[in-house]
Amino acid sequence: MEEKIVFRGEKDLPPMAVSSGRMSHNLTGSWRSMRPVIDEERCTGCGICWKFCPEACIKLGAKPEIDLDYCKGCGICQEECPAGAISFVEEER
Ligand code: SF4
Ligand code: SF4
Repeated sequence: MEEKIVFRGEKDLPPMAVSSGRMSHNLTGSWRSMRPVIDEERCTGCGICWKFCPEACIKLGAKPEIDLDYCKGCGICQEECPAGAISFVEEER
């Protein structure tokens, strides 16, 4: 059984609970094990993936572009894409 971590007060907490510095320094792309790939033939440019991406790492032009430095591979864009234009491939590291 795992031991429960108990914080008795502020002094027990790490100096930064989440991350230090600006979020732009937090390259969440390193969390990814699967990478989204957009099928440009199927994509209608509707922007729904851009709207739902929790990392705000999709840039909208005529077609969306994913910034892989920040895409954490959560799959929300694939789930929400009405055209079924987003698939996932295993990340090569
Ligand atoms: S949600 Fe799908 S169809 Fe819409 S812009 Fe994104 S990839 Fe293209
Ligand atoms: S997988 Fe998640 S983080 Fe990456 S582009 Fe899609 S919604 Fe954004």
